[in-house]
Amino acid sequence: MARLLIIGAGTAGTMIAHHLRRALSDDWSITIVDRDNAHHYQPGYLFVAMGTNTAQRVVKPRDRYLPDGVEFIEAQVQRIDAAENLVRLEDGRSLAYDWIVVASGTTTRPDQVPGMADGPLWQRSIFDFYTLDGAQLLHQALERFEGGRILVHFCELPIKCPVAPLEFAFLVEDHFRKRRLRHRVDISYVTPLDGAFTKPVASRELSGLLEDRSIRLVTDFAVESVDNERSMLIGYDGRELPFDLLVTVPPNMGQQFVIDSGLGDDMGFIPVDKATLRSETYPNLFAIGDAANLPTSKAGAVAHFAAELFSDNFVAAVAGRDLPNAFDGHANCFIESGRGQALLLDFNYDTEPLTGSYPLAAVGPLRLLGRSRLNHLGKLAFEQLYWRLLLRGKPLPVPTLMSMTGKKPA
Ligand SMILES: Cc1cc2nc3c(=O)[nH]c(=O)nc-3n(C[C@H](O)[C@H](O)[C@H](O)COP(=O)(O)OP(=O)(O)OC[C@H]3O[C@@H](n4cnc5c(N)ncnc54)[C@H](O)[C@@H]3O)c2cc1C
Repeated sequence: MARLLIIGAGTAGTMIAHHLRRALSDDWSITIVDRDNAHHYQPGYLFVAMGTNTAQRVVKPRDRYLPDGVEFIEAQVQRIDAAENLVRLEDGRSLAYDWIVVASGTTTRPDQVPGMADGPLWQRSIFDFYTLDGAQLLHQALERFEGGRILVHFCELPIKCPVAPLEFAFLVEDHFRKRRLRHRVDISYVTPLDGAFTKPVASRELSGLLEDRSIRLVTDFAVESVDNERSMLIGYDGRELPFDLLVTVPPNMGQQFVIDSGLGDDMGFIPVDKATLRSETYPNLFAIGDAANLPTSKAGAVAHFAAELFSDNFVAAVAGRDLPNAFDGHANCFIESGRGQALLLDFNYDTEPLTGSYPLAAVGPLRLLGRSRLNHLGKLAFEQLYWRLLLRGKPLPVPTLMSMTGKKPA
């Protein structure tokens, strides 16, 4: 019997388990490993921080979403010996495999910035919302906050869902407007980029929106440290930004076991062919989702589009044939902009986010890079689509590869 091992039963690993259980015969055993049995819907953290979602809705048992015919092992992976086709677990067990798919995601590393998590301000006036605990504590802090300087910040790219800090800035502005405290709150969006977003058209639209909301944009800010005594974010260029509340996204890195296994780049992400997700060093190893070093967003939507193309390639690989499908880095994501509206981005490795309509020309019904109520409702509906369709590897009514239909060229 051939043995397939999947590491990580998060978004990508769960989808891959469904796709490959359907594609492979009963001559294959499929095992999936994760350190716990709690699947987190991470886009929900944003709304937990804002108090409009709860931990109960965001976390569900992983095994409920895995297909029949896949064995689930709850254990922490210690390392992968890729030359030996062996995975070592923290509890002392080893798992041998013939083929392996690594879907272990990223982890936040506030320890990489001096003064961020190792001083007295961490989780008192410095918060992140990229963990469930962080989002819950941030919510409490926002409820207590009566006025002062808020910095919304991310340290560096790549991070998961790179628009999430922007969404937080728009939502927190809305939060204080609704509480009639907006005039007492000074909000800055602090980014290492030279604009509000990575690509020119989106950056222009989003900078305009920050300006409309009187959110100051601080660009090219490479963080060096946090001064806890003076409540100051310090940049390498000597700039010092005072804060009463710092909402930051710490560096996102690959998992420690990937680094310890010698499989990661300098950020711990696994180098793979960007079209096929196959390791160039170990042909029986694939990486999918945030764990891979793909030059596109780290997002559940990317994992979904990549997973749609994956099983044909996997079946061809085990048969020794050329891989038929090429992933194009397709990403799309809603950006909450407050006031009950959101924008939508759709892009891939080669095409930046553009204005227009999605998925159909003219009729949309969703607007690209334009604010609309329907986009916001789409973002809220995505939570149900995630649990019911996406995780189970079911198709969505949108093209898998990015399409230019409805897009206006820059
Ligand atoms: C605040 C926030 C907002 C977001 N918003 C969006 C959005 O609007 N749209 C969107 O598309 N995406 C969004 N994302 C990103 C999305 O959640 C991730 O890109 C997606 O979950 C990646 O899937 P993954 O399977 O690669 O990683 P994960 O879902 O994180 O799964 C990785 C799994 O590996 C397991 N694992 C790791 N190390 C080990 C180990 N040593 N041993 C055993 N198991 C291990 C983990 O427990 C985890 O279950 C958001 C993320 C955040 C944090």
